[in-house]
This record gives sequence, structure tokens and C-alpha cells, in this order.
Amino acid sequence: MTGGKVYLVGAGPGDPGLITIKGIECLKQADLILYDGLVNPLLLEHVSSEVERTCRVAEGCQNRRVLKQDEINQRLIAAAREGKTVVRLKGGDPFIFGRGSEEAAALRDAGIDFEIVPGITAATAAAGYAGISVTHRAYASAVALITGHEDPTKPDSSLDYEALSHFPGTLVFYMGLHNLKQIVSSLIQAGKAGETPAAAISRGTTPFQKTVQGTLQELPDLVQEAALVAPSLIVIGECVSLRDHIAWYEQKPLFGLRIGITRAEDQSETEIQQAIRLGAQPVLLPTIEISKPADQAPVDQAISRLEHYQWLVFTSANGVRYFMDRLWELGFDSRQLAHLKIATIGPSTAEALLAYRLRADLTPPQYRAEALAEALKPLVAHQSLLWAGANRGREVLQTELAKVSATVEKVVVYENHDVAAWNTESLRLLESGEVDWVGLSSPSIARNFERLLSDAARTQLGKSIKLASISPVTSQAALEAGLQIDAEAKDYHWDGIFAAIQEYRSLHS
Ligand code: SAH
Repeated sequence: MTGGKVYLVGAGPGDPGLITIKGIECLKQADLILYDGLVNPLLLEHVSSEVERTCRVAEGCQNRRVLKQDEINQRLIAAAREGKTVVRLKGGDPFIFGRGSEEAAALRDAGIDFEIVPGITAATAAAGYAGISVTHRAYASAVALITGHEDPTKPDSSLDYEALSHFPGTLVFYMGLHNLKQIVSSLIQAGKAGETPAAAISRGTTPFQKTVQGTLQELPDLVQEAALVAPSLIVIGECVSLRDHIAWYEQKPLFGLRIGITRAEDQSETEIQQAIRLGAQPVLLPTIEISKPADQAPVDQAISRLEHYQWLVFTSANGVRYFMDRLWELGFDSRQLAHLKIATIGPSTAEALLAYRLRADLTPPQYRAEALAEALKPLVAHQSLLWAGANRGREVLQTELAKVSATVEKVVVYENHDVAAWNTESLRLLESGEVDWVGLSSPSIARNFERLLSDAARTQLGKSIKLASISPVTSQAALEAGLQIDAEAKDYHWDGIFAAIQEYRSLHS
């Protein structure tokens, strides 16, 4: 069978938002994705294709078999021959020091159809995120992208340091960290001024970006003191001084923090994006799973009896979605609800209704069941309310509204289950204290978070790992589960959790 195709796609330099739209389209269509070690794994969170990491060097490869370039080429060819759509996902741009062109040549020789999807390369991206314009018109009329992989003291080095030292613009070295000393001394020997501004940017465009800046002659010592790690980029030229004025990324409010996101995995996209926008690294620690109820009969029955109720109550955005989707699946639409008043527990629940072009009649000022019950009390005496909720949750509405002779019938429109275990990478990060904060966004999440902790992870609590809770009710549940809360949201949603972490940070820095 033929008809397979290979896309050589640039994943961008690290920030998962810096992949192209075309690149994302390719990921969505792929049957198989082969990615390299520079690719941010967050990009692969939401693809359904088979994914496989390739390693060309053993370093950081974590027991994966090291593949030679030729083996990678053969793998691409074989998968395409099986008729698969294959994405070869490479850090930065596939054709900038990326061997993408060698892969393309091998595909052409084998008669395999391919396309190149360029990406944002480290030079412009890391420099931009460090506040450096490599072609600022006052300082540079050219920019050179150079491999620093070759040791310039070796006789077979193909780099002409004479020419480089007289180059009329900015020098950007890729893969130069290990050879930095030799690169710098070769440039200076060849006539480059030791006073030239220079910077090294490590893990650019990620929350772990670290930039050191000084003169060319100082740079090797500065890099060593700061213990910079790969991947790092070396930028040499007057334009580096711009950074003093326009550095911005490292100043983001949650820059550099690793924050555990405990929501159900398929519902955490908004929080992941928000963490990234604030400069943090999200760590996926889903503690619950959300699904349709095993038995839909009670939902269907409630929907068939809607005329018996005066109010419809939602206490979560999930409740809205699962209820409305079931209504639709049964062949109805929102006209079934025309006679009902609708109450929601808080703003995000009310917002979920808007997606169905429905407005809430009542949303209490405070996001909690007690406040909802209080707000409903004067309105619902002797009436019947249908509460579309989850398989677990508190009974506040029933007991409180019984006091005004209202009946609340709860129907389980979705189920909320504990996750059995975290993936090994997330657990490893917790155990090694490489998570700074974990956000706990409901009482059941707090309880199950505690249950999922290994002994090693538990010892990091209060030391490396801090906990932020979404509300007093959640803090209370956490406390009862033996967890100590370090920050509590004032607004009871995830943005409130992020704000609480930010406040803690500014108070303790
Ligand atoms: N194709 C890639 C480069 C691959 S070579 C691209 O276009 O960016 C690998 C080198 O790229 C690293 O040694 C480092 O010098 C540079 N690099 C890649 N990602 C980087 C990052 N996030 N920050 C700094 N340098 C990076």
C-alpha cells in the first residue's frame, strides 16, 4: 500500500505556543509522530496519534534506544510505505541545524511524498524572549547562525574565525555551550573585541529560561557560575545591550514556577494555557476523571418529566454540559427548558450555559452551596427543583431548601471518579521536589491528591511543594485529609489559585 506522507515539522523553540498553525494541523492528522528531545512534550498532550521519541545521543534519553540518523530515516520511510501520515517533529526549525534536509533527501530517494513545515528557530525566539533583537538597525546589519559544535582548536574545524571576528553583525552560536571557552578565545585571538556585549540564553522561551549577560571575555566564567544547561544559545554583538531595557519574559508573574494542575486531564486545557501565559510550567497531575454516568436512565427519566419542576439547578460547568448534551442526544433542544428558572452556583457555571444560549436567572454572589441555598430560599417555597449534578458532592441544597418545603431532586448527569495513579514522569517530579505548587480545585481533588501521593512525594510537602486551594471548603477538606494549605484563592476559580500563588510569591520574595 502506498499513499503515506511525511511532514517535517518545526515544533518551535520550547514554548508550546510557538508552533505554527500548519504544524498543529499536521499533528492532528498524523498517524505517527516521531519527535526529538528538544520538543516540548506539552505539544503532544492532546494528539491521538501514536507518538515516539527519537534519540540520537544517549544523554537525557532515559533508557530509550539511541537511533542513528539512518535508522530514523528508515523508520520514516517504512511508516510512510505502510500508508501512514507521519510527522517528524523537530525542535525549532527542521532545516536550521536540524538535519531535516537529510531526512528530506532520504525520503525523496525512497520516492516518499513529503512537505516541510518551517518552525521558529532558537536564534530569533530565545533572543526575542531574552529582550534581544539580533538585527537592531543601530547595531547590526547582518546576523550569522553558526554551529558551535565543532571544537575550534581541532585542526579540522571548518569555521573561519578570522572571517567571523570581522563579520559586520550579530553572531549566534548554536550548540556552543561545551566549547564556549574555545569559541571565545578563538574569536578574540582573531581580532574580535573582548568588550563586545554577549549573552548566553539557556532553555529559551520556557519557564526555565536563564540568561547571562556580560562582555565576550567574561562570558565563559559567567556561564559556569550560573551553571547554565543545554540547550543554550550564545549571542554576541552590540544588540545584546538592548536587553537591559526590553527584557520581559523573565519578569512574568509566575515565571519559573512548576505548578501541578489537578483537574481532569481532558478539562485542564484552559488552566494549562493560563499557567503558560503567566510564565509557569504546568505539570499534569489529574486526580479525577469525568465521564458520562454508567446508567443514563435516571437522566432520561428526569428529562422526560421536566414539566414537574419549576427550577433547574447546576452546580458545575460539567453539570451544564452533560445535561444539555444528553437533552440534545435524546432529540430535544433548549425549548424543553422554556418554563424553568435556572440557578447556577457561580460565574463559570453560568458561562457554560451561555454556550447553549441560555442565561442563568440566579447566581449567588458567593461561589458555594450554602450561598446558593440562601439565594434560592425566598424564591422556591413549596416548589420542585431538579439538580443536575455529579455522583458525589454535598447535600447542602436538599437539607437547606427542605426548610422552605421545597424538594430538590438530584439527578447524576456525570460521574466523577478518582484517578488510580499518576504517570511516572509527574510522580517523579513530585518526588524529586521539582514541583513548586499544586493547585487543589475541589474537596474531592484535595482528598484524592493526598491519596495518590507516594511516601517520597509526601516528604516534599511543606518543603519544596506548596499547596494552593480554590476555596475555604476545599481548604477544609484538604486539612481533614492531613494537608497543609499555603495559599487560598479569593475568587473561587483557577485564576484565583494563580493569583493566590502570585500574592504568596510577592509577599515571600
Ligand atoms: N533546529 C533547531 C536547532 C537544533 S540544534 C532550531 O531551529 O532551533 C540544537 C541547538 O539549538 C541547541 O544546542 C541550542 O544551541 C539551540 N536551541 C534549541 N532550543 C533552544 C532553546 N530553547 N534555548 C536556547 N537554545 C536552544
